Amino acid sequence: METNWFRAITGRLFWLLLACLLVGWALGEPAWALVLGLAGYLGWMLRQLQRFQHWLQTRPSDPPPETAGMWGEIFDGIYRMQRRDKRLRARMQGVIERIQASTAALSDGVVMIDKDGHLEWWNHAAESLLGLRAPDDSGQHVHNLLRDPRFVDYFDSGRYGDPLDIPSPLNISTWLQYNITRYGNGERLLLVRDVTRLHNLEQMRKDFVANVSHELRTPLTVVVGYLETMIDSEEVIEPRWRRPLHQMQQQARRMQSLLNDLLMLSRLETSEARGEEKPVDIALMLPGIRQDALAFSGERQHSISIDCATQARIRGLESELRSAVSNLVFNAVKYTQDGGEIRISWTQDDRGARLSVTDNGPGIAPEHLHRLTERFYRVDSSRNSTTGGTGLGLAIVKHVLMRHKGELQITSTLGAGSTFTCVFPAERLI
Ligand code: ADP
Repeated sequence: METNWFRAITGRLFWLLLACLLVGWALGEPAWALVLGLAGYLGWMLRQLQRFQHWLQTRPSDPPPETAGMWGEIFDGIYRMQRRDKRLRARMQGVIERIQASTAALSDGVVMIDKDGHLEWWNHAAESLLGLRAPDDSGQHVHNLLRDPRFVDYFDSGRYGDPLDIPSPLNISTWLQYNITRYGNGERLLLVRDVTRLHNLEQMRKDFVANVSHELRTPLTVVVGYLETMIDSEEVIEPRWRRPLHQMQQQARRMQSLLNDLLMLSRLETSEARGEEKPVDIALMLPGIRQDALAFSGERQHSISIDCATQARIRGLESELRSAVSNLVFNAVKYTQDGGEIRISWTQDDRGARLSVTDNGPGIAPEHLHRLTERFYRVDSSRNSTTGGTGLGLAIVKHVLMRHKGELQITSTLGAGSTFTCVFPAERLI
């Protein structure tokens, strides 16, 4: 129950003063009796204050000194509060220790980084994966310890949607995956995982595809060569073999373009583009692509227009960018009905530049849009066998754009047409 201190003190003082007055009157000196009573009360209060201060300063965790009345309650109240705080602190400490013990047992590295990029705490796995040393590295800026430019770019970019895979700073044959998450007040949590096994498997897959494609090229060139020679001398060939020969030639050519696309994809996946990049003038490239597309359209009579609203150049590889744009324009020709309209536009705004290829073809149903850039994905396989597509064109476009820090956006309406847009970020423009 709460005590009303004011009433308790005034009540006690009133009775004391009354008692002093009565004694004083009895002795004939009421004034002196009052003064003495008040002085005694003040002295007692000062003594309790002094005991209180002594207890707080010397042994606050011990039980408080014994005293009666109001001061006893004050001592006990403070002592209870302290014990409650202590229990709470012990419980919090226990929780922190358990969290630390469980993160220490993780095989993934965990590093806590403050809002200015300094290391605050990390677990054992982070020590073995990144070579961090406690306590020397505590408080160091993350850039001083993880210096790979790809990591520095990733950390500073603030775009942590996708993880970053790069070799470990301790051993280049170990591959690490970095994942950053923001939390609290601008702090970041860096998660590091050893992905060497996955990376090696992925590398084996890429090497296998590249090797098979490479090995198949020569035999296929021989087959195509002989088929061409045989078709060239058709007059000496029995008429019933002519149709099969033409079909064999058509399919062999299809295999050739498949192998070329597979080789191109593996080159895009495995090689580094950084060294050979140059300013590429897209506006200059477009008329040539338009001419090739018109030739490809031939009797199908598509109309192809170019709308160039900028002269911006892109830092990148000309052959790759040409191949990406050609793929989009040739797709538009392939999938748009005869006499259809295709518009190529090259524009720029403060966020970057956009190259769009719009057609008024059959369009693509929304459920296919997000899968179009997968290898060998086709909306309609029957439509494809007539167009001779490999199913790899848009995968190549996506990879080329990824290497140029861009992205492919696709919008389409069934029956009305499609727009494929290559979006390049402003930092890539010159
Ligand atoms: P393909 O070699 O089959 O053309 P792509 O990867 O270039 O392979 O394209 C994947 C699929 O996307 C195509 O099979 C086609 O169904 C669809 N597609 C691509 N471009 C268009 C377009 N302009 N209009 C309609 N469908 C398209």
